[in-house]
Amino acid sequence: MTLMEDSVGVGDLVLLEPLEEEPLLKNLQLRYENKEIYTYIGNVLISVNPYQQLPIYGPEFIAKYRDYTFYELKPHIYALANVAYQSLRDRDRDQCVLITGESGAGKTEASKLVMSYVAAVCGKGEQVNSVKEQLLQSNPVLEAFGNAKTIRNNNSSRFVSDHLPGSPLGGVITNYLLEKSRVVKQLEGERNFHIFYQLLAGADAHLLEALKLERDTSHYAYLNQKVSRVDGMDDASNFKSVQNAMTVIGFSETEIQQVLEVTALVLKLGNVELADESQANGISASGIRDERGVQEIGEMIGLNSEELEKALCSRTMKTAKEEVVTTLNFTQAQYARDALAKNIYSRLFNWIVNRINESIKVGSGEKKKVMGVLDIYGFEILEDNSFEQFVINYCNEKLQQVFIEMTLKEEQEEYKREGIPWTKVDYFDNGIICNLIEHNQQGILAMLDEECLRPGVVSDSTFLVKLNQVFSKHGYYESKVTQNAQRQYDHTMGLSCFRICHYAVLGQGHGPSRPIVTYNVNSFIDKNNDLLFRDLSQAMWKAQHPLLQSLFPEGVPTQTSLKRPPTAGAQFKSSVAILMKNLYSKNPNYIRCIKPNEHQQRGQFSSELVAVQTRYLGLLENVRVRRAGYAYRQRYGPFLERYRLLGRSTWPRWNGGDREGVEKVLGELSLSSEELAFGKTKIFIRSPKTLFYLEEKRHLRL
Ligand code: ADP
Ligand code: MG
Repeated sequence: MTLMEDSVGVGDLVLLEPLEEEPLLKNLQLRYENKEIYTYIGNVLISVNPYQQLPIYGPEFIAKYRDYTFYELKPHIYALANVAYQSLRDRDRDQCVLITGESGAGKTEASKLVMSYVAAVCGKGEQVNSVKEQLLQSNPVLEAFGNAKTIRNNNSSRFVSDHLPGSPLGGVITNYLLEKSRVVKQLEGERNFHIFYQLLAGADAHLLEALKLERDTSHYAYLNQKVSRVDGMDDASNFKSVQNAMTVIGFSETEIQQVLEVTALVLKLGNVELADESQANGISASGIRDERGVQEIGEMIGLNSEELEKALCSRTMKTAKEEVVTTLNFTQAQYARDALAKNIYSRLFNWIVNRINESIKVGSGEKKKVMGVLDIYGFEILEDNSFEQFVINYCNEKLQQVFIEMTLKEEQEEYKREGIPWTKVDYFDNGIICNLIEHNQQGILAMLDEECLRPGVVSDSTFLVKLNQVFSKHGYYESKVTQNAQRQYDHTMGLSCFRICHYAVLGQGHGPSRPIVTYNVNSFIDKNNDLLFRDLSQAMWKAQHPLLQSLFPEGVPTQTSLKRPPTAGAQFKSSVAILMKNLYSKNPNYIRCIKPNEHQQRGQFSSELVAVQTRYLGLLENVRVRRAGYAYRQRYGPFLERYRLLGRSTWPRWNGGDREGVEKVLGELSLSSEELAFGKTKIFIRSPKTLFYLEEKRHLRL
């Protein structure tokens, strides 16, 4: 019962009085300042990034938490991991740990803590140990290829991963979406994926020579940003860890070499300079400015450099009857080069994920219980929001939907199990916003696809015009065009923008100042198209490089299908659908991460910043739903043990059953019957006040 004792503030927000934003923030702050970074909302864990190593992890603590039930010790991530692990083991239910929060809030660290906990407590045995080791080693590899320095977090995961450890249960990592635009372009103050810097800094002279790479990052166009180093991050030594980890996971020497070659290939592609070779007669064309780069690439991947050049600068259009080759203009050629680089990299990443999974699967065929740890980036609201933010926020919108639905469902189920009548809870159903985005015909994503496929002149602005027409009356959509007199006219919204009022900012909606997310439609069409010209995939397939070739199976020339690959939006949508299915089929456990300040500083707690996140995470709503019926519940045994001293008939001795004992104690205190419900195995208490009253009485007796 350390929820109240020895801990600062309340350890469980369901006990918060009054239930309002300010006391909630105060409570988190008080706890944070006392290095209590964990707080519960029932079985949901809130974690505030400490930005310092706290002495609360490791074997000693793992041992402590594994032997206690959830509420007996201070709130801790190990307690949550333990609950998940135990219900996996004892109740035979697939588990999923869902970790959300914005960039830098501590999601990846949290997922590592959960995984190391599970690895420590789960079964032993040689095979199991090797699987565990492989799983733990998959971290540095996935981080190297999937993480980057962003403005908000020096080690930000740029992919949504679903990490399923828990041997002897087998593990699978699913990769949902890599932020591939980062390969060719990064925001100011950000870096490309770590592996590029690690490779250049950490490769020995021999490897560097073999890959024909320069040590200096400024040599590479794709890395040529102002930041090349990250404080406290040793790229060179991390490279050694990655190499080592790949070996432990089971990559062969050749495989590692090929992975690095493909990585180097991406850097080299970025350095292929194109030239405008348009002719006086008005035919636009492009060419390679410096042949040497292309030749070098050709040698490395075993491809005739003319072939590559042709693929980069022209495009073959097939019709039923004939083939027409057109030249690409300068802009198109640049687009083609970057599209190729992005595709190579993201396919490489997928290949790595699959390769790791292959190693990790123990046995085969038999169905295994799984425990997924899902680290997913939270709501992202930048100054300039584009397609990437749009899809990320869509994913979060969906997650919120599952979250509320499943929390409610779980409450309902517990009441049913305990035989207590259920009272309906009002909550905001964000289905309407999800629909606005994902509806099969009349959703923003579908309309974007339609625009991408439509023949004729399409552009980002024709797309926006369409949105404005269709959603002119939609309550959660607005743009400069749809803004009407009733709404406050906002001069800051650009002409090329639209806005969505996401769930996160709803509920708290107070007048026109509510923060709605503004998206700029610029490059939505391009990013969604994510088109890789067939000539390029065919060229890659022709390369005498086994790994590269396997990344482009659609390049087989005999394949005549002219079917377009799915758009980025469609791919994302189906990933989200798979993710949702996954979540509904598993028992979810939630960790909500919060970033206390923007400076990655220990000890600093900015109430404004935290307030914004608690809104995005819907924490108040969560507490409200959680205590709509009864704020507190406890099994009769432990409850009696704690409060028995308050009853005349139960103290100093009680020989009856637990439930009768609890009835006696509470009966003697003449509490209002409204306040209590006696379930089959648990006592339910409606308001925190009653619990505090009991606590107070208990203290007076002690
Ligand atoms: P996210 O994945 O949410 O973007 P990370 O998990 O990468 O964020 O955390 C960012 C940084 O914050 C980490 O690199 C680490 O320095 C620090 N951090 C996060 N959680 C903890 C923790 N529990 N203890 C100590 N430091 C932490
Ligand atoms: Mg992360």
